[in-house]
Amino acid sequence: MKDRVDLICSIGELAGLFEKATTLENFLQTAVSIVAYHMRAAVCSVYLYDEKKNDLVLTANQGLRRESVGQVRLQLGEGITGTAVKELRPIRVGVAQLSPLWKAVPGIDEEKYKAFLAVPILRGLTRIGALVLQDPVADYFDDNDTRALQAIAAQLASVVENAKLLMTLGKHQHGETAGAQQTLETLKFIRGQPGGNGVGIGRAMIFGSLDETGKETPCKFTRRDFEHALAATEKQLEALQVGMEERLADVASLIFSAHILMIKDPKFSGAMLALIDSGQTPPSAITRIVDQYSRLFANSKNPRLREKQQDVKDLGRRLLKNLHGGADDDADFHGRILIAAEVLPSDVLRISAQKTEGLVLISGGATSHIAILARSLQLPMVITENKALLLLHEDSEVLIDGDQGTIYVSPSEEVQAQYRVLMKASREAENIADKTPDVAKTSDGVMIEIFANINLLSEIKLAKRYKASGIGLYRSEFPFIVRNSFPSEEDQFRVYRRLIDEMEGREVALRTLDIGGDKMLSYFPGENETNPFLGLRALRFSLKYREIFVQQIRALLRAGEGRGLNIMFPLVSSVDEFLEARRTAMSCAGQLAQEGVPHNSRPRIGAMIELPAAVEVVGELADEADFLSIGGNDLVQYMLAVDRTNEHIADLYIPHHPAVLRALARIARAAAEKKKTLSFCGEMATNRKMLPFLLGIGIRRISVEARQIARVHEIVAAINIDEAKEEAKRILAMGRISDVAAALRV
Ligand code: PEP
Ligand code: MG
Repeated sequence: MKDRVDLICSIGELAGLFEKATTLENFLQTAVSIVAYHMRAAVCSVYLYDEKKNDLVLTANQGLRRESVGQVRLQLGEGITGTAVKELRPIRVGVAQLSPLWKAVPGIDEEKYKAFLAVPILRGLTRIGALVLQDPVADYFDDNDTRALQAIAAQLASVVENAKLLMTLGKHQHGETAGAQQTLETLKFIRGQPGGNGVGIGRAMIFGSLDETGKETPCKFTRRDFEHALAATEKQLEALQVGMEERLADVASLIFSAHILMIKDPKFSGAMLALIDSGQTPPSAITRIVDQYSRLFANSKNPRLREKQQDVKDLGRRLLKNLHGGADDDADFHGRILIAAEVLPSDVLRISAQKTEGLVLISGGATSHIAILARSLQLPMVITENKALLLLHEDSEVLIDGDQGTIYVSPSEEVQAQYRVLMKASREAENIADKTPDVAKTSDGVMIEIFANINLLSEIKLAKRYKASGIGLYRSEFPFIVRNSFPSEEDQFRVYRRLIDEMEGREVALRTLDIGGDKMLSYFPGENETNPFLGLRALRFSLKYREIFVQQIRALLRAGEGRGLNIMFPLVSSVDEFLEARRTAMSCAGQLAQEGVPHNSRPRIGAMIELPAAVEVVGELADEADFLSIGGNDLVQYMLAVDRTNEHIADLYIPHHPAVLRALARIARAAAEKKKTLSFCGEMATNRKMLPFLLGIGIRRISVEARQIARVHEIVAAINIDEAKEEAKRILAMGRISDVAAALRV
């Protein structure tokens, strides 16, 4: 007698059983035995779905040949089981061999089994695998069996899914196992998302791992060697800090401060010395104390302390390298491709300062500001969701292409050769910067101003080399994002002053803080919002935290003293909000005057048009503002309600949507009517298909990433304004995305 109820209860207890099982395979083996026993079926199998290969692997079985486990693989849609999983439905047949879906798998002795019941194991619509019963008696299974097996599959699904996860985690923590190795063997080529531009090639290194510090060698080191290593490490860190301050004055303030503080702390090095004096080897003393500290940080409730784990691990690595006598100044990451589950903006600075070849970021959340930072630092970077990369052997060769978003593990000589050619071509292309004409003109001689978007002062050099007409967008949040606390008014004043002065009279639009959304400050615990892009972002943040806004405005006004000053508010949502922000700015000017502090009392104040609400009142905003600037990236995001950082809906992020195009035309018309300068910042301006439209609706100033300027010059030169106007008019009459796409050939 089949015993379905008992079976379902037993399976319910499987979760507990799982904890005792050492592997997922063991656990599933127990599960199939229980199912086969209670259902009195001759055969029970579990197939697991392998997303990467898109096939099913026989993972546990009772009744078939033992060797078939791990060997039998079925394509999705292949045989009765493959079809059940593909079509997400149970399939029951009285005599399997008579079914058109039947596929005989040679060598597993299943010919003698007639009745067949396969149910998919699903989590929502996610395929986990299949649970299959077979028996020699024809028509052995009925409707009730199907339902029972479905109930069991549903219970197994979450256990199996969690088991898969836990197994991966366990494998990760305990190093390599056969299973992990198997996953890694499939890791040859990964398509991720582009992050920072350029190509990097080097040996892999897992960011934040303690593997290197953990390496034990036969000990030949003495207390003196340790003291030398300590002194060398301190010197290197100080030199690195000085180098950073010279190269990245605006953001580098004390990036290595935590390292330096720790290395100088007698408690830290003293604990190591005490261990050495008690007979431990210097490498194990370092490892033990680093471990102790990093656990301490990891367990802290304070998020800023938790971040320090990374610093202490870096420090340990560096100390060990110095002990082995091999560390140069860039010791840690030089020539490596770092693979990181999480990085902070300050990590990116540090990584780049240490001449890292590239960064692979396993994304689990918002990463766009990390990508912007990587681009500004010219650090090749790829973002991927593939966690298996974290299991990669540390010395594997990895090539990443930050432009394409691709990762090659142990790239073949052929791939490397192709990339060498590409890298040579891109170095040559860089030389065109020096040949960029002073002004951009369309084919019929209309002048277009090309400005640069920059995030760091170090990009000014590039902007000037590409002959940018000015800075159309300075993202002032970057000095805030990468620090450990708010920069003071004085700090900010120095950064802004240097930016304005280095541009030597060319116009600079300084945007006030655009914090929030995906750009959070690690030292300022936000409101823990469910929808940060619809939350306290940009100008709203500034108006709520008035003290921060006032400090920034004061710094801006002071930096603009005796110079032209353009201040721009991001994400303006109403005329009222704009006026309130402007009143605050003007009262800061009044305050500075009272205090007798030199400043610019008549700044030009502009509004960024990035929200549908701002488009609706753009005429009134144009009346009030001294200039307007379109934030194209956000405008698309908010017009279409498509998170610009969510790669799962990237196909819905459609800049050529008729609604977006009509909004742009409306903004351009309003600015022209009110005779206000209008600039366009955002990716669309670098798009060969879209730029003619922007010029066609009357936009004459665009602002793009500095290294795109030469390319944009070329695109502009091929555009005829009269034709672009005609084409824009034609496109604006279209109501369907598909029609616009056909017209623009996107
Ligand atoms: C934009 O939104 O298009 C823009 C230029 O600003 P950011 O990318 O910094 O939001
Ligand atoms: Mg924006």
